[in-house]
Amino acid sequence: MTHKTLGILGGGQLGRMSAQAAEKLGIQTVIFTPEPDSPASQVAQETIVANYTDEDALSVFSEKVDVISYEFENIPVETIKYLKTLKPVYPDERLLEVAQDRVKEKSFLNSIKIDTARWATPETPADIEKTLTEWGAASCILKTTRFGYDGKGQWRVSNTSEIETVWIEIDNQPVIMEEIVDFDFEISVIVARDKDGHMEFYGPALNTHKNHILHKSTVPAPVSSALADKALQMTGTLARSVDLRGVLALELFVTKDGTLLANEIAPRTHNSGHWSIDSCAVSQFENHVRAVCGLPVLPPGRHSDCEMINLIGEDINHLESYRRDKNACIHLYGKHDVKPGRKMGHVTILKEKNDVRKG
Ligand code: AMP
Repeated sequence: MTHKTLGILGGGQLGRMSAQAAEKLGIQTVIFTPEPDSPASQVAQETIVANYTDEDALSVFSEKVDVISYEFENIPVETIKYLKTLKPVYPDERLLEVAQDRVKEKSFLNSIKIDTARWATPETPADIEKTLTEWGAASCILKTTRFGYDGKGQWRVSNTSEIETVWIEIDNQPVIMEEIVDFDFEISVIVARDKDGHMEFYGPALNTHKNHILHKSTVPAPVSSALADKALQMTGTLARSVDLRGVLALELFVTKDGTLLANEIAPRTHNSGHWSIDSCAVSQFENHVRAVCGLPVLPPGRHSDCEMINLIGEDINHLESYRRDKNACIHLYGKHDVKPGRKMGHVTILKEKNDVRKG
């Protein structure tokens, strides 16, 4: 049975692009977000503005929809558990729990034999120094285990005084310490998996960052087919292990000797897959809606190579050259206030397809 009304928790651009994809399939969307006039609510049929912990509002939301998904990983797991008593929610909270906490994430990845950078859970500055000595490393990265994004909650430290200064800033939040990976480049793979366990893949995309925020994704990534296949296989293993229904992304480091190390899981559609709207017959958003609503996921059918460039903050004021480029596909997210670091939109530049991959 195909669900006819999709509820989406979160009102950002990922919800917006999912709602646009749903509309093409004749599926209505209702957004639940604490934010008035959100990017997603501008294109959805209806929006409920309330906090994620407001059970009365969540009940009203659940009555309006057939099935629920989320576009944002910091939704409280309790919210998903509550909604699950009322309507089906995909992906379920297992994936969300893992993706919300860097220690659970790394432990889970390692438990399913997906390699990551070496990591430890220091409780004191002395633990950090001791682990650095054990690793024979001069420095490491400290990350808060929860709520870090776009480089926030992240510090590189190398000596006692840096460690002690950062420790004060961390202020008793739980942290993970990671070995610094001397990577050649960063890639990501997106997988869509439906109720029958069928999977379709996007990427790998090559990702470059500016000020810790994704700047550009290039498809195809310049990697051998053996390495691309390995990245897809790792992502597929992850999707099967959490019995995914929907879309997830896996971010990976490619080391100088060609080893793949997983860095982060996104339990949702991902910025590094936005190119799929214009370069594929079936985008990551459409396949997400399909999977959640009980339809089969379809092959992406990528018809173009491409580059996706994020429009961050003031970049939005420089659209003129893209408007004159026949290969540029512009997407704006309907955000009124331009702020530094804020994702205002993206542009996908289409190029002739030169490789044989489908996604
Ligand atoms: P994250 O929030 O974990 O995705 O990290 C943000 C960015 O920091 C990554 O995209 C990398 O560029 C860099 N980074 C994170 N962890 C490491 C690591 N262990 N070694 C080297 N660079 C890292």
